[in-house]
Amino acid sequence: MPVIAVRAAYTSQQCSNCGHTCPQNRDIQAVFRCQGCGFEHHADTNAAINIRDRAFTIDSPTRGHSGDRVHQSRLRAAPTTSVA
Ligand SMILES: [Zn+2]
Repeated sequence: MPVIAVRAAYTSQQCSNCGHTCPQNRDIQAVFRCQGCGFEHHADTNAAINIRDRAFTIDSPTRGHSGDRVHQSRLRAAPTTSVA
């Protein structure tokens, strides 16, 4: 299984539904409540969704919080072996 490095900054404050990022989204430690769209989720689950989305949005460095670029780690394709 490949490992993809992503920046963890603001994953706990960013809404996985609309992308709105602010500390007030985490008024309660365990609960994420977006001040932008009202989306509610368990805080850790919301952060996990953000991390997953960053991992699979490799070619969109402009997405998400400004200055919070996704560390781009290229997936290395397994070498193909040809059996002739
Ligand atoms: Zn939101």
